[in-house]
Amino acid sequence: MSQEKALVIFSGGQDSTTCLLQAIATYGKENVQTISFAYGQRHAIELEKAKWIAQDLGIPQTILDLSLIQQITDNALMNNTATIQSDTKGMPNTFVDGRNALFILYAAIYAKSQAIKHIIVGVCETDFSGYPDCRDVFIKSMNVTLNLAMDYAFQLHTPLMYLTKAQTWALADSLGYLDYIREHTHTCYLGVVGGCGECPSCQLRNQGLMTYLATKE
Ligand SMILES: [Zn+2]
Repeated sequence: MSQEKALVIFSGGQDSTTCLLQAIATYGKENVQTISFAYGQRHAIELEKAKWIAQDLGIPQTILDLSLIQQITDNALMNNTATIQSDTKGMPNTFVDGRNALFILYAAIYAKSQAIKHIIVGVCETDFSGYPDCRDVFIKSMNVTLNLAMDYAFQLHTPLMYLTKAQTWALADSLGYLDYIREHTHTCYLGVVGGCGECPSCQLRNQGLMTYLATKE
């Protein structure tokens, strides 16, 4: 097992929880930390889940308030009255301009203060929903930028980048946490406990799970 340390950007959703569990398996529990962001997301339940899971797994968690982003952008993820939909180019209105760039920058500043080089981000371009900051090209570019900005050898890791949702469920299962993730993670855009089953996020999650479970039979 590696003696190096890792920081996981952690939302409490399926993807980042799977990344956290994999990081614990790779780096050892004592070498892993999480960072979570409050940015005015529609439902506080997401952050509550993140807090609960970090505590349950015994992993240190730093929570940063980035709600100032609401002063300069408006979108359906943060606005309770907006309906979730896509624009004519297919960009979902849940996209928050600059969000992942901001998150990764703040995560890196914190990581360097803790002498951590490995930063793990649960972004994925396979089930590409039109978010430009989930693409591999953005992550690679951001990695170069961070290293130049802070003169430090950060390594951004995106273990889910090319996995389908079904493969992400398979990864959770291989780590021994399939039921844990089903029960404790929150992914629903509408903030419904246990998932609404209707929003794009719930549909992607449920279809992936059904596909994976079908392969197990
Ligand atoms: Zn939902």
